[in-house]
Amino acid sequence: MAIIPFNKPYISGNEFKYISESVESGKISGDGIFTKKCHTFFEETYEFKKVLLTTSCTDALEMAAILIDIKPGDEVIMPSYTFVSTANAFALRGAKIVFADSRKDHPGMDENSLEALITSKTKAIVPVHYAGVACDMDIIMDIADRHNLFVVEDAAQAIDSYYKGKPLGGIGHLAAFSFHETKNIISGEGGMLVINDESFAKRAEIIREKGTNRSSFFRGEVDKYGWVDLGSSFLPSDMIAAFLYSQLENLQKIQSTRKKIWDKYDASFRGVLDKNKGVRLPVIPDFATNNAHMYYLTCASPEERNTLLSHLKGKGILAVFHYLSLHKSRFFEGKYNGLNLTETDKYTDCLVRLPLFFELDLNKQKYIIDSIHEFYS
Ligand SMILES: *Cc1c(COP(=O)(O)O)cnc(C)c1O
Repeated sequence: MAIIPFNKPYISGNEFKYISESVESGKISGDGIFTKKCHTFFEETYEFKKVLLTTSCTDALEMAAILIDIKPGDEVIMPSYTFVSTANAFALRGAKIVFADSRKDHPGMDENSLEALITSKTKAIVPVHYAGVACDMDIIMDIADRHNLFVVEDAAQAIDSYYKGKPLGGIGHLAAFSFHETKNIISGEGGMLVINDESFAKRAEIIREKGTNRSSFFRGEVDKYGWVDLGSSFLPSDMIAAFLYSQLENLQKIQSTRKKIWDKYDASFRGVLDKNKGVRLPVIPDFATNNAHMYYLTCASPEERNTLLSHLKGKGILAVFHYLSLHKSRFFEGKYNGLNLTETDKYTDCLVRLPLFFELDLNKQKYIIDSIHEFYS
């Protein structure tokens, strides 16, 4: 049996055609024809007020940290069970990162633990919609309103997913998406900043264009452009946007195939592994939809997780674990003086992600499912 990879980037059809159209257009730097098409797609499909493609989700988060004026000593609350960029973007500006624990039923952060972490220095909350499953945003927005905090959604995994009918990424003041090759919709590397609070719109354009008002200049609003604020180079080449646009045209096809794969895993395990073997299966709360970003199992113990991973590896199946919780990372450990995060530790020790990608065919998926049942029998 050939090796089944954990992920395989899907080429949906028109990527190369659009890249050559972009090249032939004569403008392959940022904000060319395909960047505009992508912006329009997101603003129309999800009614986001304003979006800006970025070179990565990491960069969109860094832009958010600059936009909300994070200064040394400001505190930012986020889950410890997340990718390093969620924290790094704010740490780069001198913020003190305050980590919240995960929920008992889900790796996303425990919304009800947040209020106790707020101090007079707290400036922002960064919910991460883990596996594309919404955090309980009503609770988070209510806390933020009462304490006058910004909310930046890390929606890296959350494309085409909803909270009580609202698209994720459209709820906080700002949000960041990723189009890294491991996400549902991809451009190799790539990301997007969503600006829901329009007071950030002008400055976001400036920060993205090296701190200049070049975007206004191109619209003919000013007759020369120059250095007006902090900034960096956060805009992607139009060739990246061309690749992305082909994916966006196939969004519904990609999503429905991923959902079929997700549902098949779930139907094969639910009522069996959770009932008899103490394995926890993903929970999708009533307020959330499932965008089939990820299928994962939470094993009963670290030993069980590790033997399951090697059992699958022995069968040529590349399942993986993540995240090493950030409060125990080499970089942060010595600076951490917060609470014990017992739920976070559990997911770090016990979670397994199964292969889930567009081209995972039924036979291969059946082989993965059978191999897991075999392990537990
Ligand atoms: C993938 C991911 C990121 C980083 O995205 P890039 O586009 O690779 O910078 C950030 N946060 C979370 C939760 C992610 O899953």
